[in-house]
Amino acid sequence: MPAKIIDGIAVSRDIRKDLKVRVAAMSERGIIPGLAVIIVGNDPVSAVYVRNKIRACAEVGIHSLRYDFAADVSPQAVLDLIAQLNDRGDVNGILVQLPLPPQFAISEILRTISADKDVDGFHLYNVGGLVVGNTVFPPCTPYGVLKMLEHENIVLEGQNVVVVGASNIVGKPMALMLMQRDATVCICHAKTRDLAQFTILADILVVAAGKPKLIVPQMVKTGAVVIDVGINRLSNGKLVGDVDFPGVAEKASFITPVPGGVGPMTVTMLLSNTVASAERANAKTLPQ
Ligand code: NAD
Repeated sequence: MPAKIIDGIAVSRDIRKDLKVRVAAMSERGIIPGLAVIIVGNDPVSAVYVRNKIRACAEVGIHSLRYDFAADVSPQAVLDLIAQLNDRGDVNGILVQLPLPPQFAISEILRTISADKDVDGFHLYNVGGLVVGNTVFPPCTPYGVLKMLEHENIVLEGQNVVVVGASNIVGKPMALMLMQRDATVCICHAKTRDLAQFTILADILVVAAGKPKLIVPQMVKTGAVVIDVGINRLSNGKLVGDVDFPGVAEKASFITPVPGGVGPMTVTMLLSNTVASAERANAKTLPQ
């Protein structure tokens, strides 16, 4: 039987509905959650991502502040802006759209964002929180994957999970979050020898490598849950993930599509982190 398709747009819609209610509750007390988005340069892909994030903020009632810098800006100007935003009571989240031009030390930028406004979850404090299982802001993409699994009531405890991709923003935090939920986790990456010998053992396979058709049906166990994080633009303009979707969908029990799977969830979890941040910052002014 073909896999059930986990519809990221529908799951997002449910979560955003709940976020709207939480934002409305805050606005009755005069509190509007605020997200600052910083973009440097004019990379068209980054521009689309930023536009989507700002549109999604408006949809749930989050106030967004957009700051655009030229590609040749001095990093100090961006650091100075972050310092100002850290001190503003009306800003609950600060996001710097990556990638940044070569003159930037990304680690310095991420370190400067106050850990309690780090809605992307990339500050070392939040990364450390992931390791000890006590994160303030879970990084948005793996957080979105967890929410999709939760939505389908997929049990994680004791399951064999294979994560393909070991980046700091997707693969590594994903593995830590799954480990925290008592899954048995294996991480594969570009230097892994014979990827298939690992993927075939997965009850749940999460793929975030950025390689179209990396995962073909022979590499997937019958009945596995397959989450495709990859986003690849083919030369014909088509957007695909890392998984051979039609073939693997015949074998898996659940599968996420690209587009319409993990992508919308990533933006939704950014909204969720921003709303949670505003609630925490204003906890003292809310009734007990
Ligand atoms: P990255 O380039 O930083 O990391 C890719 C990882 O995949 C690395 O660990 C690398 O070793 C591994 N890898 C590469 N080729 C491999 C192979 N042949 N076999 C096994 N492992 C391999 O990328 P990233 O930022 O983690 O993103 C991964 C993919 O996910 C990209 O397609 C990106 O566009 C997509 N992405 C999607 C979302 C979303 O919201 N859906 C969010 C972030 C990233």
